[in-house]
Amino acid sequence: MINSQNIQDQLINGILLNDRAILSRAITYAESTLEEHQLIIGKVLENISTKTGNSIRIAISGIPGVGKSTFIEKIGLKYIARGKKVAVLAIDPSSSISKGSILGDKTRMEELAIQENAFIRPTSAGKTLGGVAKNTYETILLCEASGYDVIIIETVGVGQSEFIVKDVTDLFVLLQVPNTGDELQGIKRGIMECIDFVFINKVEENNKHLAKQLKVNLIKALQFLPIKSNNWKAKVFLGSALNDIGIEEFLNEIDDFFTYLTNNKLLDEIRQKQTEKHTKDYFLENLLSKLSNSPFYIELEKEITAKVKENKPIPYSTINELINKIIGK
Ligand code: GDP
Repeated sequence: MINSQNIQDQLINGILLNDRAILSRAITYAESTLEEHQLIIGKVLENISTKTGNSIRIAISGIPGVGKSTFIEKIGLKYIARGKKVAVLAIDPSSSISKGSILGDKTRMEELAIQENAFIRPTSAGKTLGGVAKNTYETILLCEASGYDVIIIETVGVGQSEFIVKDVTDLFVLLQVPNTGDELQGIKRGIMECIDFVFINKVEENNKHLAKQLKVNLIKALQFLPIKSNNWKAKVFLGSALNDIGIEEFLNEIDDFFTYLTNNKLLDEIRQKQTEKHTKDYFLENLLSKLSNSPFYIELEKEITAKVKENKPIPYSTINELINKIIGK
């Protein structure tokens, strides 16, 4: 039997002392589905709660190859030069669910990775999207308690993961490249609705014209979307991560964005809503998982299988009676 109290204390002390190996271990506990580990991480989170919430949480999304790692490395290094500590978390639900990794094996962000004030965690495991969301939320809190002031969540812009990051971050950035002129067609409406900033990357002499056209098209398209809850009107920028063009200006825009949120008391409001959602999701997911292992459910499953074989579904009334029995009604 493991000594949970010892592990808890070790994790809490290590996190607060910014021990990156221990922070990593704590994240592994958060990602584990074992009840024992969940209890430990629950206690850890309770104990560090007064040390969380002090970072800026930025989501950066874009299809593979658009330049996310290059861009994140550049902004990460600039934040470090400004005296900040930076954590980069990459989420890729499609890979964690299928156990592959479309983030690839290449060594990413080599220069950032060797910085003392940087922490990079490639993927966040989870069997379900809800699991990925929970892990990401908890990982952010653990990183904050460890002293990281800037938390960057990288997602592969293919859909699902964007909705997860929207619920755990303050600012959503989409990376684009000027290419064919019909790039907008490829962006899902749901993603468009999340956008606070678009950074059009890889802008060079030979594609400047296309890039400017893309900017105009994007601004037009963004205008027609419903107003976001933060009331912020999305902005579009041009630049090059590789050649370090437009990046410093972009960081200044991020500063302005956070000043806007703080001045309008929106930051607290956004995070309170996120905490509320996370807590409710946690409750419902756990409840469902416990119920689906309960004798009631196992019995019901057997009955359903038997009836379906006879081409006779179980009547809803029977199911409702069972639910009432479970909730003691
Ligand atoms: P990711 O898959 O979105 O993380 O993209 P990467 O950051 O790995 O970049 C993909 C490729 O694009 C790499 O070869 C980068 O060197 C290159 N790249 C990134 N930013 C720029 C840029 O601003 N200009 C040019 N020409 N290439 C870039």
